[in-house]
Amino acid sequence: MWRRLEASGHWQGEIWDRRKSGEIYPKWLGISAVRDTLDQLTHYVAIFSDISERKEAQERIEFLARHDPLTGLPNRMLLADRLEQALAHADRTQSKVALLFLDLDRFKTINDSLGHPVGDALLQEITARLKASVRETDTISRLGGDEFVVVITDLEDEEIAASVAQKILEITRAPFSIGGHTLNTSISIGITLYPTDGGDFDTLLKKADIAMYHAKDAGRNTYRFFTEQMNVNALERLLIQNRLQQALEKNEFVLHYQPQVALGTGRIIGIEALIRWRNPELGLVPPDRFIPMAEENGAIVAIGDWVLREACRQARAWREDGIGTLPVAVNISTLQLQHGDFAERVLTIIAETGHDPRMLELEFTESILIQDVERVLGQVHRLKAAGITVAIDDFGTGYSSLSYLKRLDVDRLKIDRSFIRDISTDPDDAAIVRAITQMARSLRLKILAEGAETTEQTRFLLAEGCDEVQGFLYSRPLTADAFANLYRQTSGFITNLTRAPR
Ligand code: C2E
Ligand code: MG
Ligand code: MG
Repeated sequence: MWRRLEASGHWQGEIWDRRKSGEIYPKWLGISAVRDTLDQLTHYVAIFSDISERKEAQERIEFLARHDPLTGLPNRMLLADRLEQALAHADRTQSKVALLFLDLDRFKTINDSLGHPVGDALLQEITARLKASVRETDTISRLGGDEFVVVITDLEDEEIAASVAQKILEITRAPFSIGGHTLNTSISIGITLYPTDGGDFDTLLKKADIAMYHAKDAGRNTYRFFTEQMNVNALERLLIQNRLQQALEKNEFVLHYQPQVALGTGRIIGIEALIRWRNPELGLVPPDRFIPMAEENGAIVAIGDWVLREACRQARAWREDGIGTLPVAVNISTLQLQHGDFAERVLTIIAETGHDPRMLELEFTESILIQDVERVLGQVHRLKAAGITVAIDDFGTGYSSLSYLKRLDVDRLKIDRSFIRDISTDPDDAAIVRAITQMARSLRLKILAEGAETTEQTRFLLAEGCDEVQGFLYSRPLTADAFANLYRQTSGFITNLTRAPR
């Protein structure tokens, strides 16, 4: 400073100074030498300004450019930097790095039904839990939306990545309490490893994203390591996603119908409508391969309306053809219920198709009982008042509050196929079926077993007091024509196939 002042008579720069209070602050200082007429140095004039606010703003801008404002976590840019550093470090120390791609399951449902402030608060709570489940030196980043990335460094073997993923799943499983709502959520995780799966940020991230989708396909709330086979499937996925947009317009969906049968008599007591997608390029696509995608991108609402309309139209056509009036069950995705006025839409469809509402059963999964219960109850009660019946599908696999089952005024429980499969060999499955059946009886609910494939199973089911089934043993899902033929030929009793012995 002095050298400058002597040479040029002026200096300016940033300095730290101390206030009277003792606080240190940055200031911008300019000093000029003042000379008299004889060019003798007489004074120095200093002008300074307090730049602490400007500096804070600058730091804030720098922070914002590299962090996510909602959670304060590093954003994609900073993540890329940190990962490149981690990779260089891993090369030096011969260790591995794992990249975990996290995506919340059904976050859109929460956002759509409870509003963005609740969604935002949930993301913040999740951030806090994530921080608690990794080491200080690991990086957590939010990419945007409901996507997070965790980078684990100094990895000795991949088992550690798996155990961190497991820990994240466990720690986010406990309900969140936000704005008076109790929210349950889960996470799907895809994992890539350096150097095995790729050598740079973009590759590792892309493959982890693909692995994450496989975790979703596997039923969510789980993790998957990337494998090369997944790359192939990812292309198919993309194709499905693209074609799904136009499937409704192109009229590519069809419904198949699977009979529900009373075990004692073989009488067909109802049918379930099951959607299939017939696409010229993809062939006949089963619902498990496109419904989750349609839920993800919201297309399920329009598709679901179509299913309802088509099932009601078909049932009415059968009635007019003298097939008889059978209750038809339609699967409803939780998202449909949360979108707009669902009850109103169903009642309109019923009115338009002239279907008897008492012959319509709506199948919900247990997940409808998790979110926004009051709204769900309101919608379901309006439907019930019109005579529509309600079943809980895949019962036993989700999370049910028995008191809500009662308040929802459910008519029927459909015991999930996974408990029926080994019922004759696995005592635990038999015990679960027995417990569900007994509970249903005390709550005066009807009960139906899904996926009966052998007489052995139906024998057990009868012994446990469950006498209605739906399964390949009696019939696979059939096209509308095939079902009409079956019904005519058997007069509505599928006794010629198998009659379960008592
Ligand atoms: P879900 O509602 O539990 O339907 C029963 C599924 O079990 C059907 O598969 C049916 O073909 C299959 N199944 C029936 N009996 C047996 C058996 O004895 N053994 C075996 N292994 N499987 C049996 P599908 O048609 O592939 O449907 C799968 C799931 O897709 C359905 O499960 C339902 O959750 C969903 N889904 C189907 N149609 C619709 C729809 O229109 N809307 C919505 N939201 N979901 C649908
Ligand atoms: Mg169903
Ligand atoms: Mg089911």
